[in-house]
Amino acid sequence: MWSSMYNPEKQKLKRRVDWRRLGELFRPYIWQETQLTICIVATSILGLLPPLLTLSIIDKAIPKNDFNLLLIDVGLMLGSALVSGLIGVYQGYLSSFVGESIIRDLHTRLVTHLHHMPLSFFAATKTGEIMNRVSNDVEAVDSVVTMTMVAILTNVFIIITTLFAIFALDARLAALSLVLIPLMVLPLWPVGRRMYEARKRTRAKRDEMHASTQETLSVSGIVLVKSFVKEELERSRFFKLADDLMKLEVNVAMVGRWFLMAITFMITAGPAAIWLIGGFLAIKHGVTVGVLVSFVALLGRLYTPVSSLAGVQVQVVSALAVFERIFDYLDMSEERDSPNAIVLKQTDGAVKFDDVTFIYPDTNRGVRNLTFEIHPGQMVAIVGPSGAGKSTVAQLLPRLFDPDSGVILIDQHDIKSVTRASVRSHIGIVMQETYLFHDTILANLKYAKEDASEDEVIQACKAANIHDFITSLPEGYKTIVGERGHKLSGGERQRLAIARVLLKDPKILILDEATSSLDTENEAAIQSALEPLMQGRSTLVVAHRLSTIMSADCIYVVEDGSIVEQGNHQKLLAAGGAYARLYRANMS
Ligand code: ADP
Repeated sequence: MWSSMYNPEKQKLKRRVDWRRLGELFRPYIWQETQLTICIVATSILGLLPPLLTLSIIDKAIPKNDFNLLLIDVGLMLGSALVSGLIGVYQGYLSSFVGESIIRDLHTRLVTHLHHMPLSFFAATKTGEIMNRVSNDVEAVDSVVTMTMVAILTNVFIIITTLFAIFALDARLAALSLVLIPLMVLPLWPVGRRMYEARKRTRAKRDEMHASTQETLSVSGIVLVKSFVKEELERSRFFKLADDLMKLEVNVAMVGRWFLMAITFMITAGPAAIWLIGGFLAIKHGVTVGVLVSFVALLGRLYTPVSSLAGVQVQVVSALAVFERIFDYLDMSEERDSPNAIVLKQTDGAVKFDDVTFIYPDTNRGVRNLTFEIHPGQMVAIVGPSGAGKSTVAQLLPRLFDPDSGVILIDQHDIKSVTRASVRSHIGIVMQETYLFHDTILANLKYAKEDASEDEVIQACKAANIHDFITSLPEGYKTIVGERGHKLSGGERQRLAIARVLLKDPKILILDEATSSLDTENEAAIQSALEPLMQGRSTLVVAHRLSTIMSADCIYVVEDGSIVEQGNHQKLLAAGGAYARLYRANMS
């Protein structure tokens, strides 16, 4: 349950980036992106003005004592700064609009995809890990989109416009400054890779922490911790995780530090070289002071973007780790209906298992060669010791799992040839553990039928023997039931579940140990709620308590995944086999 799942050996450096896939995320916002690009081009051109105006001030206005020109130059400087500031505001709006829209899309896609994932995925994955991907990872994408992408564009355009300007000023100096560029970028290259690995490791560790807190801080988890007095053990487990994370984070910060130091050095070193050579040219070959000053100012505009583009590579590469984690989830296969699956509109509720075998992946447990039938309106019970495979049968019918071999039929239709949604729409399930949303009783009931009228809801609750209880609550149907319905007793939750299924009004009913673990009074209340529920429906009861299924039309006794006996209560009891033994054990 708390095993470590991160294995550095397994985390291989990744295949090449799927740019097309990233591009698809940006496609719907092409109009905003175009405007954004125009803004960026405009500000990068405006940014050229101050250094060029400096040239004019130093070489023209001052030497010629031209006060008017000085005023114009300074005025233009201020004006360009103001306009580019204003454009910057709009640019900020656009980039956050695009970024947030992409997050919204990705979030929705991810959550919807998860809703369509098979049950086996949720059984095999820690909830905390899923939560972490859905919230933190998607949020992390935001900074990539709004900051990194805009930074790339901005820097590219600044470089292009600056190159034009410096070549126009002095081609010799310009050529020299270009030679220095590779010297600046190359040393930064390996940083990206290290950063990528470090970030990936911290994310995996965060997953682990989320999973662990999710487990211990849930209602059932905390009850477990408290009842076994394991607070100290949990503290040390958690500390270990938090400590690992802390070390990994320090590592990430240090990779970033070295990187920053390298950049800072280069930003100073580049212009220093130009001062040296430019100064020499000024002394010997008549390059004017104005050209030199504005040249060095422009160089700042060249080197800073070049270094940060190298930095962007680091950011992009590490951000891709996040995208990959999201894409990994999106790539997992959903429950997919076969292409020519039909929609089962109506059913009589006839169910047939024909030689059905299903073994849980990587185990040898499950059910084997099951054959049985439920005629419309009949009640069939599956009984057997714990672990025999009863719940598995109940999960195969609504296609939470598909058989490895054999077929399950509803009215002559192999359920694999019918859409999952339509199969499920005809099945009502009352589980041993009733899940209720943290919402009002009414909202929980209406989950089964959104447009149910008040009268329908009340009728269902009366039939389920829960109406009087609900109206006795101070807030009645408006009472909020806590997470997993914690404020209600097990029996009350189950009767709510029965009312919910009554509202859904399915033809086929699955009762999974619906009356186990209850006191006699509650059991009687549920028994009388179940009777109207079963009227006119085909019912599959999976039960430990044999008292509930004596009236079943047929009882199948399952042991070790196979049917070992079948018949009605009287017949099985008389046969004196497995059922009779179970019965005696139950009644003693
Ligand atoms: P029952 O309802 O009769 O108590 P189940 O149908 O729940 O039994 O389980 C049948 C067998 O399959 C058990 O041995 C159980 O351990 C195993 N099993 C149940 N669910 C899974 C699963 N998701 N993955 C692997 N094995 C499982």
